[in-house]
Amino acid sequence: MDIEGRRQSSNIEDRRGMRPVRTGVGLSIGGVLFLVVLSLLGINPLPFLGVATKAPEVEMQPTNQPVQENADEAEKHKRTAVVLAETETTWNKIFQQSGMKYAEPTLVLFSGAVNSTCGLAEAAMGPFYCPLDQKVYVDMSFYGDLERRFGAPGDFAQGYVIAHEVGHHVQNLLGTAKKVHDLQQRNPRVANELSVRMELQADCYAGVWAKDADQSRQFLNPGDLEEGLRAATAIGDDRLQRQAQGRVVPDSFTHGTSEQRSRWFRRGFDSGSPNNCDTFGANPL
Ligand SMILES: [Zn+2]
Repeated sequence: MDIEGRRQSSNIEDRRGMRPVRTGVGLSIGGVLFLVVLSLLGINPLPFLGVATKAPEVEMQPTNQPVQENADEAEKHKRTAVVLAETETTWNKIFQQSGMKYAEPTLVLFSGAVNSTCGLAEAAMGPFYCPLDQKVYVDMSFYGDLERRFGAPGDFAQGYVIAHEVGHHVQNLLGTAKKVHDLQQRNPRVANELSVRMELQADCYAGVWAKDADQSRQFLNPGDLEEGLRAATAIGDDRLQRQAQGRVVPDSFTHGTSEQRSRWFRRGFDSGSPNNCDTFGANPL
């Protein structure tokens, strides 16, 4: 990605100076989010309650120390702000073309743990989108994880991750998220399959953004598309599940296969149109 001299989004909330403080005994960090995710997926969270309880309750309090960024962190921060601005430009344009108005999401930078409207979350869970407060949550240490743990190095891999979360925001604005949630409530048997379709659509939307950023603003460098595809292949929201449960349960995966993920990202990129991201009508997926 070519970030020099580009606009940086002002929709960034820096909460890295906050730290968790124990306030009593209740749900664990992550436990709340885990239960929220389960119920969003249409899975009854009650059997998992034991997993999530018996840990201290935590509140986020500001510390007196301002965030001191080293050069590497400052670079990642800047890159995040530029990518977010690029997604704003793309989605403002696409929404406008359909006579709609795009409400730009806020991106929250955090370290360690964060209190979102969807519950408390740990950095280890990876980036996520909370539909209730319309914010994207990113711990920049995840960028290092991408490289070291998931074998997806490169600045564009980071761009892809942000664009995917912004894709969930687009689904929220378009009402797709609510429709899917209602369907999942009515028919828990297909809840997981619908979640996969949601994830793949967010990948496709990330591809739509990448295409527009490249074509309209020459944002991509050679090799960036491959980096994005590698990231799409390497990570999934199953990471969340693994972190919460300590293991992966294959039949409750909520993401697509690696092949599906990179294919839908590619489909968004090749077509450049969200109309080609109908993962709900696609059969086979
Ligand atoms: Zn996702």
